[in-house]
Amino acid sequence: MKLTKKQFKQDFEKRLSTKFAIDIEKAGPQEKLAALSSVVKAYYSKIWQEDNEYKYESKKKQAYYFSVEFLPGKMLKSNLLNLGILDTVREGLADLGIELDSIARLEPDMAIGNGGLGRLASCFMDSAASTGIPLNGNGIRYSYGLFKQKIVDGYQVELPDAWLSNGNPWEVRRSDKAFEVTFGGEVWLEDDGTGKLRPKYRNQERVLAVPYDTPMVGFENTTVNNMCLWKSEVPKDLDLQFQNLDYMRQTAMLSAELYPDNSNYDGRLLRLKQEYFFVSAGLQRLIKHYVSTIQRPITHLADYVSVHINDTHPALCVPELMRILIDEYDIAWERAWNITVKVMSYTNHTILSEALEKWPEEMVKSLLPRIYQIILEIDRRRTAELLPKVGAKLVHSTRIIKDGQVHMANLSIIGSHSTNGVAKLHSDLLKDVELHDFYLIYPERFNNKTNGIADRRWSQIANERLSTVLDETVGKAWRHNLNELKLLEAHKNDTNTLERLQAAKFDDKLRLADYIKENNGITVDPNAIFDVQVKRLHAYKRQLLNVLHILKLYFDIKDQPDIDVYPRVFIFGAKAAPGYHYAKSIIKAINEIANMINNDPDVGNKLKVVFIANYNVSKAEIIIPAANVGEQISLASKEASGTSNMKFMLNGALTIGTLDGANIEIFEAAGKGNFFKFGLDKDEVYEYYRNGNYNARDIYEQNPVVHRILDAFVDGTIPNISAEGPEIFESLTTYNDEYFVLRDFNDYVRAQKDLETLYKDRTAWTKASLMNIANVGKFSSDRTIKEYADAIWHVEEKK
Ligand SMILES: *Cc1c(COP(=O)(O)O)cnc(C)c1O
Repeated sequence: MKLTKKQFKQDFEKRLSTKFAIDIEKAGPQEKLAALSSVVKAYYSKIWQEDNEYKYESKKKQAYYFSVEFLPGKMLKSNLLNLGILDTVREGLADLGIELDSIARLEPDMAIGNGGLGRLASCFMDSAASTGIPLNGNGIRYSYGLFKQKIVDGYQVELPDAWLSNGNPWEVRRSDKAFEVTFGGEVWLEDDGTGKLRPKYRNQERVLAVPYDTPMVGFENTTVNNMCLWKSEVPKDLDLQFQNLDYMRQTAMLSAELYPDNSNYDGRLLRLKQEYFFVSAGLQRLIKHYVSTIQRPITHLADYVSVHINDTHPALCVPELMRILIDEYDIAWERAWNITVKVMSYTNHTILSEALEKWPEEMVKSLLPRIYQIILEIDRRRTAELLPKVGAKLVHSTRIIKDGQVHMANLSIIGSHSTNGVAKLHSDLLKDVELHDFYLIYPERFNNKTNGIADRRWSQIANERLSTVLDETVGKAWRHNLNELKLLEAHKNDTNTLERLQAAKFDDKLRLADYIKENNGITVDPNAIFDVQVKRLHAYKRQLLNVLHILKLYFDIKDQPDIDVYPRVFIFGAKAAPGYHYAKSIIKAINEIANMINNDPDVGNKLKVVFIANYNVSKAEIIIPAANVGEQISLASKEASGTSNMKFMLNGALTIGTLDGANIEIFEAAGKGNFFKFGLDKDEVYEYYRNGNYNARDIYEQNPVVHRILDAFVDGTIPNISAEGPEIFESLTTYNDEYFVLRDFNDYVRAQKDLETLYKDRTAWTKASLMNIANVGKFSSDRTIKEYADAIWHVEEKK
């Protein structure tokens, strides 16, 4: 949009006055933030309205992204950037004596997601809007987002995230578009007099779902998409009748809290309720919109609507759409089923067995009696149809209902026309191993869509210094098309470019060093290697492997005070699920090891260890630009894709990583020598599984370095971990090291050494860093979302 500085200043001052009856001199920072957000909202509202008109008039097919999590982070700067007014507003505010960043920082992170899954959903929302793809988000407006993490005495402490307490300037409550969702009670089928069986209900619990729309502003275009988040309330006509506090509380609970778990299935009733709540409300709204605006018979739904099931949490989309078509629109089963399968598509995000969602049949039956009947019927018909074609073995292994449980992945695959994994390796593993039986039955449904990141946030917003260097080196086209960064390669021997890249990195490191000084009280040297591992804490991600290497360096320094090690700062950021005891023990151990090392005068500046509390999107925006090294060290085959690996690459960090998830594609893109690869590959891991011949204790007993490091957990060397130390020690020895940490240790140390050697050659290192940036184009989620739009949803970009 066009905006002059003068106009902006007028708008801003006027808004302060109309909103808060105050002038700039007297306004506090919260008032400034609210007024600024409100001005920005007014700027995009017109575009939003016009784009809605366009969508209404053109009647083109739209996609709906159902996700129980979104993780957008802060919206202000992203909205300013995408509107093309970031610089104008920054300068205008500066004229008024206000620093944009000090205001923007006050916006609470919108953290209604746990990690990669939710962040991916938000990257997709940004990229869809920015590429003109009509994609509607659909989720839950949790009153409390992911917990805030504090570190107290080295332990994780969880605090509630009341992110809405100052209001949310971006959302629009649409009480006129509320729908009811019902639970429980009894259902039976009754002849309606025409020979048709219709469901009758009794004693149902009714909940009102109220939508809150948050606009997703496209980057310098005319698209503004919508992310709809549902809040649960008591239906209005029940207000008086049900002055029942329990009922009120229960209803509010539905959208109160995000489940803080990651990659772990939690079979609690409230979660199942949440899943049906946003699925039912979202589908009801979509169908109503279709009927009232598209005005075509419901049987043509699949020509106008695509629904995406992001992981299995929204799998109830399948039976819920069936219910709507059959019960509310009188469509015959076969026809309804064909429509449903055409409309639905599904992304699988993990092969970890503990993450596979399945619900006890009894629970589904009592909470969602009609949905249960429909799932039974889907299962029954499919079994009857397939038995003669593929045989009992395959039919049984892929059934939706078995062993008294409803298998949500099976429901998602069977009820949709597309199942995709999120990186090449992951999609291959789905076909070859995890979902092999499904692949035999439905080979045409399986495909890969390698993840990506919204590069605007992770470079233009998070790393303005680097962005400027890139502009000056290759022009600005990369800001619209990340593939343009390929032009950088021509500059890889250009001393001037390399020096400017180094200078930008140094500035970003200074910024992080300041943050660390202020928040951790630790002084770190910006000349040291900044070696970063930030992601959820999970055993399979192997933060522990990183820790063992740190201890090795520590003992090397202790043993040989004159040893020549290049100074390093190891930086961690990680939340553990509140119920994940082992992960919390690792956090405690990291903090105690950090204390031990940082305060040891023998170590000095050679080694620092920093745990940055409350890792979230905004922290990532400070930490990742400052990284020299990104740690992507999961056990091969366990990390479906990873996306922080892509953020690091974009910011010129070199990856030390296993051949897992999208690391493999990053390695191929960056090129040999520009990526430090180590460890078992997935075939070797599967070979161990087949043979069952891994013996971690042998390594402990035979490798003196490993022996000494592990002993440090139990012999008092690392202080204050008398409970956690033995737990970790036992996991690696007695319990045979589930994720092959000890098996990969030596090769990891070797790769770390290679990395250090390269870092000492500043030119060679910076060249390798440049090669990472130059080849990151593929990992833009603009690319990913276009692939979904073309190959799965068949929706067109707005031209
Ligand atoms: C990108 C991101 C993640 C995902 O990180 P992985 O290393 O891919 O697991 C998690 N949390 C936040 C806040 C992120 O920005």
